[in-house]
Amino acid sequence: MNIKNPLKIIIFGPQASGKGTQAGLLSKELNIPQVCSGDLLRDEIKAGSELGKQVKEYVNSGELVPEELVRQLVKNRLDQSDVKDGFIIDGYPRSKDQAEFLNSIVEIDKALLIDVSKKEVMNRITSRRICSECGEIYNLIFNKSEKKGICDKCGKNLIQRDDEKPEIIEKRLSIYEKQTTPMLSLYEDKGLLIKINGEQSIEDVYQEVKNKLNI
Ligand code: AMP
Repeated sequence: MNIKNPLKIIIFGPQASGKGTQAGLLSKELNIPQVCSGDLLRDEIKAGSELGKQVKEYVNSGELVPEELVRQLVKNRLDQSDVKDGFIIDGYPRSKDQAEFLNSIVEIDKALLIDVSKKEVMNRITSRRICSECGEIYNLIFNKSEKKGICDKCGKNLIQRDDEKPEIIEKRLSIYEKQTTPMLSLYEDKGLLIKINGEQSIEDVYQEVKNKLNI
């Protein structure tokens, strides 16, 4: 490996771009934790915490959660010792304000953009299913569970996430286009942004990621 290691990496991409999958692969390969703002929020909702109650409506309707609530959650996570030297963050920042906040607490080394068209995103999301218990992700077309509607790992039911219903997805994509896409220029201007073609197989996307990160 001929780059600084560990790295502090942001991974961007619209919903269903595969950024979570790529983040997981990189996390393993580079031995750095994966931090996902959506998971942090969903964990709070599942735990029924005060914060979870406050954010539930936003998450389920596809709206962005108010900045101060996400900010605190992300900051708490990034204050933990396991991420001091490196991490890959997914889902944050999503706006210029968030990018500026992140910049004020850590120095980012690379920003990956997993590029996927809106049409492809819609196709992928409407066929996505998630385990109601363990969160394992399936796809009705290219990653089916062995038994229809049942998780291979834990045997519980597979469901469609509320925020992955088509009308909610339209809203989330338009938020992404309005708020997140313009923010990418902040990283592009600093020479940190690496664009990856997300419309390839998982393996090929990962190969491109590795080539472009020189790992
Ligand atoms: P995700 O799984 O990253 O698509 O996030 C699911 C939902 O969590 C989003 O639709 C938002 O409601 C909320 N969320 C996640 N990250 C953020 C963020 N950085 N800012 C505001 N809301 C967020």
